[in-house]
Amino acid sequence: MTSITLDHVQKQYDSGTDIRLDATVGAGELFTLLGPSGCGKSTLLRMIAGFVAPTSGRILFGDKDVTGMAPNRRDTGMVFQNYALFPHMTVAENVAYGLKTRRIGRKDRKPRVRAALEQVGLAGYAARRIDQLSGGQQQRVALARAVVIAPTVLLLDEPLSNLDAKLREETRAEIRRVQTEAGITAVYVTHDQAEAMAMSDRIAVLDAGRVHQIDTPDTVYHCPATAFVARFIGRSNVVPVRVEHVEEQSVRVSLSDGAAVTPPPPNFEVAAGDELALSIRPETLGFTTPEDGLFKGRVSVREFNGATSTYTVASEEMSLQVTVSDSGTRPQLGDSVSVGITAGRPWLVRP
Ligand code: ADP
Repeated sequence: MTSITLDHVQKQYDSGTDIRLDATVGAGELFTLLGPSGCGKSTLLRMIAGFVAPTSGRILFGDKDVTGMAPNRRDTGMVFQNYALFPHMTVAENVAYGLKTRRIGRKDRKPRVRAALEQVGLAGYAARRIDQLSGGQQQRVALARAVVIAPTVLLLDEPLSNLDAKLREETRAEIRRVQTEAGITAVYVTHDQAEAMAMSDRIAVLDAGRVHQIDTPDTVYHCPATAFVARFIGRSNVVPVRVEHVEEQSVRVSLSDGAAVTPPPPNFEVAAGDELALSIRPETLGFTTPEDGLFKGRVSVREFNGATSTYTVASEEMSLQVTVSDSGTRPQLGDSVSVGITAGRPWLVRP
């Protein structure tokens, strides 16, 4: 297993686009580059693969500096969105391809191809043609083809984007299982936060070429570093607040309507008078009595999610989303309600 170090890596395109990342991917880790389209995910992945040269900085696999090394010498396995399989070859021939180009003899190829197909749950499909497979199966062939060469590093570029929702969930679990079992260090690119949360050991959240946070899914969700992260990961009410008073265990802030909230201290310096933002997850809010409420407003939207419903409650000053179990209170559209924090804690973020 090998770590990957992106040592102050920067790519500057002639267009002026500037993409930067300074991070280390631990050996055996599944590390996700997550962000909206155009934030620089593919560029970073291509720099790790060797298809794009960084403008400055170094890339290391373990202790080995690979910055100037050609892609075919880096020992990476790649899985792409569009599978990139050979349609005229069988499943086994596709998987064997990488071994052939590495001059591994037929006798040694056979058991390795069989093992790789077993790994991805396609043991009985060796003789099938690619066009006789579903999209999910094709992506598993692509995964088998990437892992059969026992690469040092596995790079995945939006591998599930062409699959429908149900298949996406199944295939992501499959990719995660294969990556963990094979113990390969992996860098995974996606714009889908749910996918990133479900699969990753750690996530780098990017926007416009800059990293906002690198943390575990749990920390990124519960302790977002910035308003962007709070909005991009899951849903959140991000409201402007003013710091009134700082204590060791909590910070007292006031909302625009004057209501006071005491979130825990964030991991950056705060002082009385600071204008910050508060991330309040909809599921931490509930309907309360007027005395316990933080906010009063009218229900303007109700969205039924199955086990829960999400209500939009709006006043003249602001609007909050409230997610509650569908078995509890069910206000009607237009009802006047009080909303308060009923579970969990809000979190202070940089605006
Ligand atoms: P993502 O994968 O997150 O969608 P990309 O890495 O593809 O983002 O692109 C990041 C930014 O860099 C975009 O603004 C894109 O237009 C720009 N970009 C990507 N490739 C090139 C290139 N070859 N030349 C100039 N600009 C590029």
